[in-house]
Amino acid sequence: MAKFYITTAIDYVNSLPHLGTAYEKIAADTIARYKRMAGFDTHFLMGNDEHSINVEKAARERGMDPQAYCDEMAVAFQTVWKRLDISYDDFIRTTEPRHVRGVQALFRAIVDAGDVYKGRYEGHYCVGCERFYPEKDLVDGKCPVHETVPQWVSEENYFFRLSAYGPRLLEHIRKDPGFIIPETRRNEIVNVIESGLEDISVSRSSISWGIPLPNDPKQTVYVWFDALINYITGVGYPEPNGDYKKYWPADLHVIGKDITRFHCVIWPAMLMSAKLPLPRKILGHGWVQFEGQKLSKSLGNIVNPLEIADRWGADAIRFFLLREVPLSRDGDFTWELFIDRYNADLANDWGNLFTRTVSMIHRYREGRVAKAAPIAGMDGVIQGALRDYAAAMESYEIDKGIEAAWTIVRRANRLVEEKAPWNLAKDPARAGELDALLATLAVALQHLALLLYPVMPMKAREVWETLRLTPAIEKARLPAAGALLPSPASPEPIGQSKPLFPRIER
Ligand SMILES: [Zn+2]
Repeated sequence: MAKFYITTAIDYVNSLPHLGTAYEKIAADTIARYKRMAGFDTHFLMGNDEHSINVEKAARERGMDPQAYCDEMAVAFQTVWKRLDISYDDFIRTTEPRHVRGVQALFRAIVDAGDVYKGRYEGHYCVGCERFYPEKDLVDGKCPVHETVPQWVSEENYFFRLSAYGPRLLEHIRKDPGFIIPETRRNEIVNVIESGLEDISVSRSSISWGIPLPNDPKQTVYVWFDALINYITGVGYPEPNGDYKKYWPADLHVIGKDITRFHCVIWPAMLMSAKLPLPRKILGHGWVQFEGQKLSKSLGNIVNPLEIADRWGADAIRFFLLREVPLSRDGDFTWELFIDRYNADLANDWGNLFTRTVSMIHRYREGRVAKAAPIAGMDGVIQGALRDYAAAMESYEIDKGIEAAWTIVRRANRLVEEKAPWNLAKDPARAGELDALLATLAVALQHLALLLYPVMPMKAREVWETLRLTPAIEKARLPAAGALLPSPASPEPIGQSKPLFPRIER
C-alpha cells in the first residue's frame, strides 16, 4: 500500500490556538482524511514546540515550572484539536525524550559532516519570532512581524555552515519545481538563496530551557533547529527501521508562509548535511485575516475557533475556512461572510437536499430506498464530480474539491424542482418514476457524504448513517475511476430526517 506522511507546523504553547492556527490544522486534516479515503497508508503528525524563551516566560509569569506549564498546555491544545475533529495519528512534544534523543543525533551528524563551527554571534534577536534579524531586514529598527525592538545579543555560539548549501538547494528546486508550492513561495525562496546565504547560529549559551548540545552541554540547541527536527523524530529517528523507514521522507509539510525560509532553506540544508532524504513537498499557505487585517493579539481581533464550533458545530467553521480561503492565498473571515456562506451553502443547499430527500423517502415509501436505476444524466454528473474532486484534492486545492462536490448538490436540488415528486406521488401510474427519483437523490446524498467527509466529518457521518450505508464512513473508499459506489437501496427503513444545518438568523 502506498504511504502518505503529512505534517503541520508545531506550535509555541505560550498562547492557545486561534483561527489562523486552526486553519492550518483543519486543512492538513482534510488532506489526511482524503488520502486515507483514497487508499493511502496515511500518517498525520502534529505537535507542540515547547523550547522557546516565550514559553519559559509564560510559565514563569504564572509561577509555574516550564515543564509543568507545557504539560498543561499540551492537554489544552489537544482538547482544541479534538473539538475541531483533527484526526492526527501522533502528537509530538519537543520536550519528550524521543525528540531530545533525535535532535542530539542529528546535531552530531551535522558536526561529523564538518558543518558546525564555533564563533561569536552579535545581532538583533526578536524573541517573538525566535530568530535573528540582519540590520537591513528591520523596519525603523523594529521586527517587521512584531513591530517591537529586538534584543541585542552577543555571545559565543555554534554556527551551521548554511552558506555551503546554496548551490545544492537551487539545483534541487530547479530539478523538482513542485518541491515548494505555491509558485509565489518558490520564487521568494529562490530569490533568498540567490542573494546569498549566511551561516546561522544554531546554539544559545545564555538559554537553559532547551536541549543541551551533545558536544558542549553548556549550550542549548537553537529553538528553530530543535523544532524542525520533529518531522523525523516523530517517526522514530534516529532508529533507522520501523516508522522512520516506512514514512520518511514526508510527502507534505503544511506550514504558514511566514516560516517558509526555515522549512525550504534551513531544514533541507540540515538534512543534506546529515545525509538524509529531503521531504517531497512543502506547502506554504496564506493567512486567514479578520476583516482584512492580520489576526493578532495586539490588535485584539483574535477569533476563537471553539466559540464558532460550540455555537454552530466544528463542521461549519471547517467548511467556511476551506471554502473561502484557498491554501495558496490569504483569505478573509468576517461574521457576515460566515453567516452568508453557512446559510446559502450548508443550510439551503446541502442541508435542504438532505432533509427533503429523507422526509420524502419516509412520506412516500415508508423509509425504504428502491433498487431503481438512477435517472439519466445523474451518473455522469457524479462521475464528473468524482474526477474533478480527486484532481483538485491531489493538488491540495480543497476549495475546488468542494466546488466539484457542489455540482452534485445543485443538480440534485434542480432535479427535485423539475420532477416535482409531490405530483408524482398523486399518480399511481407514475410510481416507478418516483422510485427512480428518490433512488437518484439517495445516490447523490451518498456520494456527497463521501466527498465531503474529509471537510465535514461529523455531518457527512450523520448523512451516511441516516442512509444506513456500510461500511462505516471512515472505512469507505473512493470508487475506482469511472465507477460509482454500490447502490444505496435499503429494504429496511432509513433514519429520520432532521435539520443538518439549522439556519442562522441574524
Ligand atoms: Zn518578531
